[in-house]
Amino acid sequence: MGEGDELCGQEDLFCVWSKNIFKAACEVFCIDDDHGGQDDKNSIFHNDSTWKPNKYRFSIVAEVTELAAALCHLHKRKVVETRIISRQNLLHESSGRSTILVCLQIGDTQELNYVPGDHVGIHPTNQEELVEKVMERMEELPAFNDVIRVETLLETQTEQGPQRKWVSEKRLPPCTVFQALSHFLDITTPPSPELLESFAELATDPKEKKELEELTQGTHKYEDWKWECVPTIADVLEEFQSVRVPASLLLTQLPLLQPRYYSISSSPDVYPSEIHLTVAVLKYRTRRDQGPVRHGVCSSWLNHISPGDTVPCFIRRAPLFHLPSDISVPCMLVGPGTGIAPYRSFWQQRLYEIENQGWKPCAMILIFGCRHSQMDHLYKEEVMVAKEKGVFKEIYTAYSRDPGWKKVYVQEIIQTQLPVELFHILNSMKGHLYVCGDVTMAQEVAKTVQEIIAAQGDMSLNDAATYIAKLQDENRYHEDIFGVTLRTREVTTKIRSTSLTCWQGTKSMIGSA
Ligand SMILES: Cc1cc2nc3c(=O)[nH]c(=O)nc-3n(C[C@H](O)[C@H](O)[C@H](O)COP(=O)(O)OP(=O)(O)OC[C@H]3O[C@@H](n4cnc5c(N)ncnc54)[C@H](O)[C@@H]3O)c2cc1C
Repeated sequence: MGEGDELCGQEDLFCVWSKNIFKAACEVFCIDDDHGGQDDKNSIFHNDSTWKPNKYRFSIVAEVTELAAALCHLHKRKVVETRIISRQNLLHESSGRSTILVCLQIGDTQELNYVPGDHVGIHPTNQEELVEKVMERMEELPAFNDVIRVETLLETQTEQGPQRKWVSEKRLPPCTVFQALSHFLDITTPPSPELLESFAELATDPKEKKELEELTQGTHKYEDWKWECVPTIADVLEEFQSVRVPASLLLTQLPLLQPRYYSISSSPDVYPSEIHLTVAVLKYRTRRDQGPVRHGVCSSWLNHISPGDTVPCFIRRAPLFHLPSDISVPCMLVGPGTGIAPYRSFWQQRLYEIENQGWKPCAMILIFGCRHSQMDHLYKEEVMVAKEKGVFKEIYTAYSRDPGWKKVYVQEIIQTQLPVELFHILNSMKGHLYVCGDVTMAQEVAKTVQEIIAAQGDMSLNDAATYIAKLQDENRYHEDIFGVTLRTREVTTKIRSTSLTCWQGTKSMIGSA
């Protein structure tokens, strides 16, 4: 197993790890030198997919693959086209930020059956302006409307000597270059050192060549550049004007545009043919907040498309984040900001059970967190209605930036107001704790819960950690983690410096091993 940190040195560590895993796999599956020798192993490993001039060509084809089918083929999962019904900004205009409620029409397709707590994967489209910028710099481009297939020159050894033939590349479906850059390829993630290496070879200006070569070493310099500038492919080509980029280079070497996951914010019993999402629209400035504004690919796309537009998606089950089947056990839900997303599906479900099935589920406790009481209290009215109808017993809100008030975070509410209740729920009532949101918050909550269990259960911190592990085994401590959220410069700088230290430590350990 290898571990990487998306904030620092991930490619570098992956590269080292993958070479080792390949060697180990060769040993395990008895692929020794008799089965081809070291050179062959290396060529299998590198899959010979590195770009070289004259290695790729385009053939023009008549067929066009429909988007959902193309995404199914590319990502090896069943992708279904839904339509956007409506979008609503849940934040006050004056907050300057957007968190949107997106409602998708799914029809009656079985493929999109879900239960509260599940995730939906969304395949976004890149911003048109960015796609155009990249296309402006591409050379050897087919005509705009040409549907192309990429072909690779394959060389095989035969008894008659080496033979070469053109074979179709399986990676991309037949499409135009514009479609490839819009739907299938990632044009916003900073380019990898390997891609920069190809750019360095193609740069005609010696100064630019040298600068690019320095960045390809996968060192501190690359990491700092990536972190400071968060450069897209278009930015790199803008900065290094002498790089001539053949279309085949980008079409074969850019990574695939990955789906983004969202916690479903609706109950299928209440909205049988819809899926609702709660999406924080990502917008930030690079270069220590002094550089250009960047927009998150998927969240911005969802914030721009119009009702009726198609949204390709699929369901990912999250069995470790479902409501307990026994409705009589208590649940405590912790979710600041968009961490409230899956809980909307929970309270809708419970409301449905109370109102339509006559059930009497145990009332839940919700601990929500937001910046200001007036501007970003998501779903305030809905939550209040749910409380009046018996879904919630108590609702606590932590305001982290209310003017004139001390910053309060969700873990502080648990620590100061709920230690006895939390322990009672988990220990005596065999209840459940749910935590949803970014990884830093989830770690803080876990630490707080550990301290509470140690204090209330009169045990050591180590024993409390074992107690939590047992809760997880029993599927009573649930986490739905969104990844890293770079909320403020303060948090970002702290995370970044921890990542750098870990990366350097891991590199030196790998080096000495
Ligand atoms: C299981 C799961 C559930 C999730 N549920 C939800 C949900 O319900 N609601 C929700 O809103 N999100 C949710 N997310 C997050 C969501 O999947 C996307 O990651 C998020 O919407 C951003 O995607 P994007 O395409 O808009 O941004 P991207 O284009 O993917 O950009 C994100 C990248 O931008 C960079 N970045 C961001 N901020 C900064 C900064 N300040 N400085 C420098 N670089 C920065 C980082 O490299 C980051 O990886 C969930 C994630 C997971 C894994």
